Amino acid sequence: KMRFDLLRDQPADPLLKIIAAYAADLRSDKIDLGVGVFRDDRGETRVLEAVKRAEQRLLDRQTSKAYLGPDGDKAFVAELGARVFGADFMRPWQGLQTPGGTGALRLAAEILVQAGVERIWLAAPSWANHAPIFAQAGLRAMAVDAFDVAAQRFDAEAWMDALRAAAPGDAVLLHGCCHNPMGIDPDPAQWRAIADVVAERDLLPLVDLAYQGLGDGWDEDAAGARLVLGRSRYGLLAYSCDKNFGLYRERVGALWATAPNAAAGAVVQSNLLALARANWSMPPDHGAATVRIILEDPELAALWQDEREAMRRRLHALRGELGAQGRIGDLDLAPIATGKGLFATLPLAPGPIEYLRREHGIYMAGSGRINIAGFGIGGIERFCDALHAVVD
Ligand code: PLP
Repeated sequence: KMRFDLLRDQPADPLLKIIAAYAADLRSDKIDLGVGVFRDDRGETRVLEAVKRAEQRLLDRQTSKAYLGPDGDKAFVAELGARVFGADFMRPWQGLQTPGGTGALRLAAEILVQAGVERIWLAAPSWANHAPIFAQAGLRAMAVDAFDVAAQRFDAEAWMDALRAAAPGDAVLLHGCCHNPMGIDPDPAQWRAIADVVAERDLLPLVDLAYQGLGDGWDEDAAGARLVLGRSRYGLLAYSCDKNFGLYRERVGALWATAPNAAAGAVVQSNLLALARANWSMPPDHGAATVRIILEDPELAALWQDEREAMRRRLHALRGELGAQGRIGDLDLAPIATGKGLFATLPLAPGPIEYLRREHGIYMAGSGRINIAGFGIGGIERFCDALHAVVD
């Protein structure tokens, strides 16, 4: 038998099925709460005006598409890094451009393996792609039940207990803000406790920051990452610009490493460059160049900030509106109001989720995760009416 005959069929991402079913649904009042992209109140995921203008400038002025190198667009990395880490961040850090946040996570996992790290702790439930990315790179993903999904609550005690039991040198994944899929982030006191135990136990933090600016605000959303990375000897920050610039398919990301001193940082950086070279050689340019043009131009940066803030305010308003509905039968929507970002996970069984899809044209992930931005005008009212029909 040829080797390929031994390959086993892999299940498709269950979310893809939902996307296909939604597309095939002919009802005009159907609601898509499945896919994780921002939508405006007409249900559209539009290219930001700041992006349009920067792309036009790129088109007009770019004179060469010759290779840049494994670290991609250096000015993109520097401009973005200065804003992500902030002026007060004193530790040495270096970074490189990656194909999206996913590429950053993959590279992070690979350098952990290269450094001899065997395990990474993560709070479950987490983004569905975290565990597969880590497993493919050869890390053991240690999932801890750190959320009470039924109560829509972060179980900080369970998470802290796990971190205290982790071995020195183990890696730990932390969502920087706007947790996917729970929408619940540690509060400032919980971040301090996490930073304490990470530093005391000499754990290696990998912060995944994929929604900066869409939670409480730009600096607020990076506060946890800065705190943890500022206090641990070594740390990694996997970053995505795909949500906060609306660049999704352009695959814009970066990976930064912090180190105890510049010399140690340079060694880490050289390893990251070598790994990137063997993976994708160089990251795609267009999206990162677009972000760089925006960040370098105060006018475009201000426009982007306004557009980003509009996204954030829309999410915030929708959360308030949903939360104000309170209890519908056993289901409490109130926790959604204090959540952050695109997602919440409702404690709904497969039966009701299927019923909402079949009878009401409301599509959500099988896990009960909903994308808050999926509610258009009148959507929340329809959703709550449908929930009444399910739970009453
Ligand atoms: N990290 C989290 C928590 C995410 O939710 C996502 C995307 O959904 C990513 C990383 C990856 O983003 P990108 O599309 O830039 O690869």
